[in-house]
Amino acid sequence: MGSSKTANALMKKFNFEERGRTVALLKPSLDTRNGKTLIKSRIGLSSEAFFLDRDKTIKETIGDDSKYDTIMIDEAQFLTVDQVDELREMADNGIMVMCYGLKTDYTGHLFEGSKRLVEVSDTIREIQSMCSKCGTKAIVNARYCGNKVVYVGNIIDIGGEEKYITLCHKCWTKGII
Ligand SMILES: [Zn+2]
Repeated sequence: MGSSKTANALMKKFNFEERGRTVALLKPSLDTRNGKTLIKSRIGLSSEAFFLDRDKTIKETIGDDSKYDTIMIDEAQFLTVDQVDELREMADNGIMVMCYGLKTDYTGHLFEGSKRLVEVSDTIREIQSMCSKCGTKAIVNARYCGNKVVYVGNIIDIGGEEKYITLCHKCWTKGII
């Protein structure tokens, strides 16, 4: 993907840990993988993370939450509404919560998790990315096949990273990449 959200999350995690914070990094799991995974960014940073199953709570996943003062989520667009609400409650109880993810899917609509995050977050920061075609601000993480933009199909496409490109709305509407 053209955005650098994973790199941003990992840099923030390292900075926090340098300052003595205890950070739990989680990544929503789209299938039923449990345990831990390694999150890597394109600029070489990596960190171990908990898989967060759709049917599990944050607390079930990280165990005793009292040892973490910070929760970070990568690919936060795939959180469920219940998980976002649990994170909101944790933030209300003094835990720092930071979520990194895409706002909209390849059809230009809010993901379920992103919608809830927009509704309940204290602060939203946009990481800007450029249209791969014309260099203006990208707003769609478009799916493509060959040189054509795809507008229909399953919203969640595991492992489909190579089929996505960041586009501005005008280039996305034209449909040719
Ligand atoms: Zn463009």
